[in-house]
Amino acid sequence: MPATCSSQTSGKQLREYLDAAHIQGLRAARTGVVSRQVPALAEVSATRFAMAVATVDGAEAHIGESDAGFSIQSLSKLFALCALLRHEPEAWPAVGWGPSDAGYGSVADLEHNDWRPRNPFVNSGALVVTDRLLMHSGDAVSATVEMLGGGAGEVFSDPRVAQSEIDTDHRNSAIAHVLAEHGRLVNPIDVLLPQYFAQCAITASVRTLARAALFLADRDSEPSGGQAVLDPATVRRVNAVLLMSGMYGAAGDIAYRIGLPAKSGIGGGVLAVMPGRGAVCVWSPPLDGDGNSAGGVAAIEEFARCAGWSVF
Ligand code: GLN
Repeated sequence: MPATCSSQTSGKQLREYLDAAHIQGLRAARTGVVSRQVPALAEVSATRFAMAVATVDGAEAHIGESDAGFSIQSLSKLFALCALLRHEPEAWPAVGWGPSDAGYGSVADLEHNDWRPRNPFVNSGALVVTDRLLMHSGDAVSATVEMLGGGAGEVFSDPRVAQSEIDTDHRNSAIAHVLAEHGRLVNPIDVLLPQYFAQCAITASVRTLARAALFLADRDSEPSGGQAVLDPATVRRVNAVLLMSGMYGAAGDIAYRIGLPAKSGIGGGVLAVMPGRGAVCVWSPPLDGDGNSAGGVAAIEEFARCAGWSVF
């Protein structure tokens, strides 16, 4: 634990916070288990670790394998949602915005909510997001890669990971069929599902993800030389829904322990946003019982404590 924790955000200071976060992250990672849901992801070593922070005033710091690409899985749901909202700012009623404690793969939750997804971060909502993004853009995967900064081939969809999920999935297929039965999808299921799996199979590094999420923290100013990615009211809504639903059943625990909007993925990624300050991303593959990276949550908790990052 560093001797002093303050709200300064120089690169050097951020690096000290990351050192402290790294220690907590590695310790907590030992309590988790690498996901076997997608067989290709089960092969990833439990000891891998990376963390990066980017601030709205241009400071950056990183630790561990911060340029290594990893499978972002459900972190893609955040970027796909933002891509959709650029095409269709009023997409919210189709995807929902309320919390759910039913788990990201729940079919029953649809039944209990008039066959509508609860929010864009559970799989039913994410399938609707991908479906609509596909309708608007013609390619939901490329639209999501573009939201991640796209450049230099560093962000791409890994066909091996996508195929591994296609070969073993039943759950997302079941959810898609229920959505189609109730008229919630635009595209045929056999067109939508490969897009969704390819979107989940996007590979990116923690540095790329922290930078790409900065528009969610940069609520007042426009990015240099361009239009804002999303209007400020939409950014506030995305962050609100992230806080309530980005970490699934652990949302209350994360709000209590950390106090930041955050999104996780079964590849071991966690991305958190501090409005007005910056974004921080961790990759640590072992997951806790809620399906969130055990090391990622602990590392962000320590970083947020040191940096004084909390929306509360
Ligand atoms: N591809 C996984 C799925 O759709 C992603 C789940 C996750 O990362 N939480 O089930």
